[in-house]
Amino acid sequence: MTITSLILSLAAANDIRQDIAIIPREYYEIIRERNESSAVPLVPPLENEVPDIYYIVLDAYANSETLLEFYGYDNSEFVDLLEAQGFIVPKNIYANYPRTALSVASTTNMEYWDALVPEMDKVRSWWPTKHFLEKSIVQSSLEEIGYTTISFANDWGLTNNKNSSIYLQPYPILLTNIEDYLIRATPLRLLQKPLQNIMPIKTHDVHRHFIRYNLETLKEIPEMQGPKFVFSHIVFPHDPIVFDKDGNPIQTKNKFSFSSPEVTKDERQKLYIGQVEYINSQMKDVIKAILEKSSTPPIIIIQADHGLGLSMTFNPNENQCFQERLSIFGAYYLPGKNLDTLFQDYSSVNLFRIIFNEYFSTELALLENRFFFTQESNLFAGMQEITPKVKIFCDIE
Ligand SMILES: [Zn+2]
Repeated sequence: MTITSLILSLAAANDIRQDIAIIPREYYEIIRERNESSAVPLVPPLENEVPDIYYIVLDAYANSETLLEFYGYDNSEFVDLLEAQGFIVPKNIYANYPRTALSVASTTNMEYWDALVPEMDKVRSWWPTKHFLEKSIVQSSLEEIGYTTISFANDWGLTNNKNSSIYLQPYPILLTNIEDYLIRATPLRLLQKPLQNIMPIKTHDVHRHFIRYNLETLKEIPEMQGPKFVFSHIVFPHDPIVFDKDGNPIQTKNKFSFSSPEVTKDERQKLYIGQVEYINSQMKDVIKAILEKSSTPPIIIIQADHGLGLSMTFNPNENQCFQERLSIFGAYYLPGKNLDTLFQDYSSVNLFRIIFNEYFSTELALLENRFFFTQESNLFAGMQEITPKVKIFCDIE
C-alpha cells in the first residue's frame, strides 16, 4: 500500500466515523420500526391474473425531448416501437432526485426522503440509503402477497439487493467497493489476473459482462414459476463508455471509473448517444422475450433514475440545468389499463403508488411533485428543494 492510499483509507475511515456520529437517532429508530412492518396491504388480483412486475432502471437515460433539444438525437424510432407494442412513453416526466441511490430508494419506498428519514441534513454518506434500497416498501408489500423478488448484481454496488429472494450475479464472488479498492491499491493486485473470472475487480471488460449478463438473463426470467417482482439496475447508458451503437467494445487505456471521460462535451454526447442506441437495440429483444414468454401479461417499467446532466456540476455555487438532469426516459407496459393521464404530470415518487392503486386495490394518495438538488459527494447534507426551477428550459451550450 502506498503512503497516499494509506492516507486516503484513513481519511475515509475518519469520514465514516464522523458520519456515524451525526446520523440522527431517529434514523435507527425508523429502521427498527420498518423491520417490524413496512408493508402496504395489497389485494392481489385474481389468481390467474397476477402479473409479474419488471422494474428495469436504465441509469442516466435522458428523456426523448432532452435527447433532441440538448444532444441533437432523435429517439422517436425506439419510442414508436414501444408505443406500437402497447407501452406508454410519456413526454415530460421527472426523477425527484439527481443521484441514483436517492432516486431509486425514493421510488421503491414511494416517499420523499424528508418523510422517510427526517433530520438527515448533516449526513454526507451514501450508506444510510442501503437499508431503503434492500428493504423497500414495494418489495416487502409484494412479498407479503406471495411475490418472489428477484434482483441482479451490478458492479456499482449500492443497488445490489442481497435481501431479495433470488439474487442473480455473473461471478461467484463479488467484491465490495472497499475490497475492490484495497486490491487495486496494494500488492494484492497481483492476484487479480488469475482470479478475474471468479472474483473480478472493476474493469471495462467486467462492466461489459455485467451489462450483457443482466440483459441476457432478463429474457429467461418469465420461465421461472410464480409471480415475480424483478429489479434490475443496469448501470448504462451511464458512463463509463464501453459499447458503440452496434455493441462493439470501446477500448480505452483509462482506469475504470463511473465518472465521465475526459473528452470534449461534443465527443461525450456522441459517445453517450452510441450507448443509448445500443441499449435501445438490446431492450427491444428483452421486451420481446418478456412479452412472448410471460403466461400472464406482465407489468414492465423501464425508467431512468436521472438524466445525463452534462451541465450538472453538483456545486451549489454554479448555475445548474436541473431540467437536463432530472427529466428522464420512462416507458410503461401496463396491461388492461389506460393510464396516460396519470403520467401527464408525473414524477418517479408516484410510480408504485400508481401501480398499487391500479392493480392491487390500494387508495394511496399521489404525492405532489417535488424536486431536489444535492451536492457532490454529499447525499443528504446540502440538499435543497428546487421544485420551481426544474421545468425551466435552459441552454447548456
Ligand atoms: Zn444513476
